[in-house]
Amino acid sequence: MTVAPGAAQEVGGSTPPGHARRLEGAPFAREIRDRVSEEVAAYTREHGHAPGLAVVVCGRSAPSMVYLERILKACAQVGIEGSFVDVPGDTPEAQERELTAAIHRLNDDSRVNGIIVQMPLPEGVRLRTVVDAIDPLKDIDGIHPLNAGLLRLGYEGFIPATAHAALEMVHRSGVAIQGADAVVIGRSPVVGMPLAFMLTKEDASVTVCHSKTRDLADKVGAADIVVVAAGKPGLVTGDMLRAGAVVIDVGINVVEGKIVGDVDFESAETVASAITPVPGGVGPLTNALLLSHLMRAAQRQDQARLEQAGRGGASA
Ligand code: NAD
Repeated sequence: MTVAPGAAQEVGGSTPPGHARRLEGAPFAREIRDRVSEEVAAYTREHGHAPGLAVVVCGRSAPSMVYLERILKACAQVGIEGSFVDVPGDTPEAQERELTAAIHRLNDDSRVNGIIVQMPLPEGVRLRTVVDAIDPLKDIDGIHPLNAGLLRLGYEGFIPATAHAALEMVHRSGVAIQGADAVVIGRSPVVGMPLAFMLTKEDASVTVCHSKTRDLADKVGAADIVVVAAGKPGLVTGDMLRAGAVVIDVGINVVEGKIVGDVDFESAETVASAITPVPGGVGPLTNALLLSHLMRAAQRQDQARLEQAGRGGASA
């Protein structure tokens, strides 16, 4: 995991109120893409073909299609071979069967190094069945139970790209995580919970808040680091924040045709020391990190093949 440049500062920071630093995702995303481009070029030279990422789609929903098309565009920019696998099916049973069959074919395809599945799944299709089908070594968005378990235990595996992007933004803010009080709002398996585990691993004291949390404002007001991933526009306002807090807004909401986060940016930026905008903060970083996960997957698969060949050689 990369740690952002910039010296760590005291928790809460000394930035005067009203001068929050905007943590833009684009420059950092560019750095990551440049590094990935080099890795892709080296991989392509060595293997005679580009690494591959497959996006499995079942029942097209407009917002997720936009997100997936952005991923494929990002793949093309760095030389990764991106592909769509469109899964048919008239009933949830047929869709689930076709989805798992498609995933098994991709697991067996050595030209595909990473698999992501469009979420949410169509109604009636069981998430667990689909997630279990993904080869954990190709699970670049960290949704397989093995990867979730590795993260929980503090071992290396694949972590969800969004949670990774939010953590990188915390690093970028320069705040000292060790000993900090952090509040994570949202407890989903793809954002809130993985972030809570990662911040805990870096020695923050983490409070996870959710839709049943009482006194959200009190908890937010006591935090040096506030990560918001609830999908509720305006959930966190400036008057809730401790002066100098670092605020990471993961939310993506459409309000009156405009994309906004979960934080009321105008009021929050007058209190925070650093804050991510929406759009333009966590989002661009998420895509770039997904590409870096793909390259890590490709390298780990090479490694696994070598180890297997070595074992085969030893027993021969
Ligand atoms: P989710 O719906 O699975 O989880 C939302 C969480 O927020 C739940 O744990 C819920 O308890 C909590 N919550 C809801 N209302 C709340 C309230 N009033 N107070 C406190 N907690 C509340 O959502 P998710 O998949 O974790 O996504 C969260 C947000 O992040 C969404 O806006 C989503 O669009 C966005 N998102 C962004 C990216 C990105 O790349 N930036 C990627 C994935 C998701």
